Amino acid sequence: MSSNDPLKAAYDHATRFMSEAGQRHVGARATREELLDALGGPLPAGPTDPAEVINHLALAADPGLVATIGPRYFGFVTGGSVPVTVAADWLVSSWDQNACLFVTSPAASVMEDVVSSWIVDLLGLPARAGVGFVTGCHMANFTCLAAARHEVLHRAGWNVETRGLRGAPRVRVLVGGEVHVSAVGALRYLGFGSDELETVPVDDQGRMRADALRRQLGDGRGPMIVCAQVGNVSTGASDPVADIIAMAHACGAWVHVDGAFGLWAAAVPELRAQVHGIDGADSWATDAHKWLNVPYDSGLAIVADTAPLRAAMGMKASYLQRGDDEERIGMDWAPESSRRARVVPLYALLRALGRDGIAGIVRRNCALARRMAARLAAAPGVTLLNEVPLNQVLVQFRDDQTTTAVIARIQAEGTCWAGGAFWQGKQAMRIAVSNWSTTEADIDRSAEAMLACYRATVS
Ligand SMILES: *Cc1c(COP(=O)(O)O)cnc(C)c1O
Repeated sequence: MSSNDPLKAAYDHATRFMSEAGQRHVGARATREELLDALGGPLPAGPTDPAEVINHLALAADPGLVATIGPRYFGFVTGGSVPVTVAADWLVSSWDQNACLFVTSPAASVMEDVVSSWIVDLLGLPARAGVGFVTGCHMANFTCLAAARHEVLHRAGWNVETRGLRGAPRVRVLVGGEVHVSAVGALRYLGFGSDELETVPVDDQGRMRADALRRQLGDGRGPMIVCAQVGNVSTGASDPVADIIAMAHACGAWVHVDGAFGLWAAAVPELRAQVHGIDGADSWATDAHKWLNVPYDSGLAIVADTAPLRAAMGMKASYLQRGDDEERIGMDWAPESSRRARVVPLYALLRALGRDGIAGIVRRNCALARRMAARLAAAPGVTLLNEVPLNQVLVQFRDDQTTTAVIARIQAEGTCWAGGAFWQGKQAMRIAVSNWSTTEADIDRSAEAMLACYRATVS
């Protein structure tokens, strides 16, 4: 063993992994059985030296790690992590603060207040808006929609927190045909079954059709929630939110926007038109661990009016010391009590990059996505299926079957990693450029590798 200090051992392994991530085979290299062999076995009866545990862990897990932090991982919509955010994340674990109450960590509570106002400013949302710090966009959708459920029923004279949903006035929930599964999941946890949702048709890029929404809203009046989306997970396209908000508000509906990655277009002057009118919504869910490139466990639930969120989430117990009104109680803003100070890496990112640095990542990734699209679409037999408004590229290689084969081949080949999606009847390869460190050379090298896999498949 090189050291008997587990922290030093972890530091060495972590920094080596981070510096080599750009060179390694991007996908994992081990099967489940191989990983079970390396990591499994019976529960140890007694202790093992801590540094040895860390060294074993680094060695045994390594072939099962995916280089998602590297510059050529294009799967799902996956951010890497800017080094300053990893460093801040180490502090989170070392400090081990509980962001539950003010008294359990005044520093975490104040950082949540500071980052909340910075985020609202960065996204050009109403200054009175507030942010709850949750694990990811899925839970951000849940948190925002809990606030929505509270408010629309409150306006109908019903307190859902005390009376529940049984016997409550019916809440209509309208979603686009391309609603993200996590919003459907979130609605399910809130008592709205997936069959109850009213689906609004979308166009060929997955955008909710405003004319169809107008028809479906009709002259509806009662409790109503409309879920819009900016940044479709396959095409990157955004719903016409200004129109949606105007129509929905005319009917008294709450408008929630799922903007897991697409919301960050609002932080880039030349992209903001894609989400024009977004500041008029009632709630917004987004991720920091996707496009902002902070480590996992970072989602933001943003509400224009904070009272419904705090009504939906807040809890009281005699032993919970609540402190002064201006002191933020983390658990009033999120569906959790004890939780890590997940705001810290985001605080570090915003301080390190500033408004221009954040916009720079988003802008660069969009330009790189267009470069990828142009390289691939220039090859005979490759069809571009989306307009590439943001960082998503959707392509088909000749036909469904060939595309599936090319995806499998590129994942095994290891230069880069891209997954698939079935888009409006066609099998596609789905390429998301979300990493802060990706360069033009990475795009060119990856496009070359994908085209080589295509040629190998059809030859
Ligand atoms: C990724 C994503 C989500 C879910 O976010 P998690 O961070 O995985 O919880 C929700 N909506 C959209 C549009 C997404 O892309």
